[in-house]
Amino acid sequence: MKVPKVQGEPNRRVLIEMELLDSSKKIASNGVDLFLPLVREPNDVEKDNFGDVEFLEYQFEEHEKAPTLEDLLGFMPHYEVIGDIALIEADDTDADRIGEALLKFHPHVNTVLGATSPVVGEFRVREFMLIAGEDKTETIHKEYGCRYAVDLAKAYFTPRLSTERERILSWIKPDDVVVDMFAGVGPYSILIAKKANPKRVVAIDKNPAAVEFLRRNVVLNSVDNVKVIEGDANVESQRFAGIADHVIMNLPHNAFDFLDSAVKLTKPGSIIHYYGMTHEDDLFDGSIGLIEAAAERVGREIEVVERRTVRSYAPHQYNICIEVRVI
Ligand code: SAM
Repeated sequence: MKVPKVQGEPNRRVLIEMELLDSSKKIASNGVDLFLPLVREPNDVEKDNFGDVEFLEYQFEEHEKAPTLEDLLGFMPHYEVIGDIALIEADDTDADRIGEALLKFHPHVNTVLGATSPVVGEFRVREFMLIAGEDKTETIHKEYGCRYAVDLAKAYFTPRLSTERERILSWIKPDDVVVDMFAGVGPYSILIAKKANPKRVVAIDKNPAAVEFLRRNVVLNSVDNVKVIEGDANVESQRFAGIADHVIMNLPHNAFDFLDSAVKLTKPGSIIHYYGMTHEDDLFDGSIGLIEAAAERVGREIEVVERRTVRSYAPHQYNICIEVRVI
């Protein structure tokens, strides 16, 4: 569309509204007129929306596009970025090419690691090998204004639960007491301590390496209301009986082994945030039964407040969360 320069802007806006402007091409000018690139010639009715304009053939220059990761590789790889480390699967046949492409595509990524094991063991860690870049497994990940130092080969951390953590944060009120029974390097505890103004967060983990990073993260994020405890959640929670407004149980594979302790931690009316790994044929009922049984053993009752699937974990398996109020 050729349009006098002074009428360029209103006509450009109409073109955008009518989805006729071709944004892949550069707008051109001869000093007096503008040439606006279109995706197609408008029909006669559409042309009535414009004033003193002309439609003609014109050779436009293309906008230079930065190549996407898919352009570099010819396919879109599966990966996640934690701090300045990108993670891929080590057994990917294109691992080396993906590694080099990730270093090029993400300027802030300095290391690409390949996972050589799934998340395993009591401490829920993975093994890695270097694919590209600097040989290290330690990094600092930023999320919702918090910073988490973590050594991925020594402690669990995933950015995939960031939305979930924000959701739990929305439950916490000022002056609440929160017990994070499986705190890891602290992504729930520190977010809550920093953003929800709780009275206190008790953060427990059995993995000494995770606890070391948790302590560092308390300092890194300048929070002074987190009590860090290294040890078994069933043992350590005993001295905090009846103090919690919220108990977070983020150990989905065997949180059920800690339910009696979780119930004992609660004040009447408090909420347990219970995570589980369940089959699609019984997403919630089995887990609710386990929570009810634990409450009964401890002489309490529960009511289910919310149940959700957090993410799919494996074929037919889901990471779920159930919120119950303990009465
Ligand atoms: N909440 C953290 C997060 O979101 O990153 C960590 C979650 S990770 C799935 C579970 C954590 O539970 C691990 O850090 C592991 O070391 C810890 N853990 C496993 N068994 C434990 C136990 N008996 N007592 C306390 N912590 C335990």
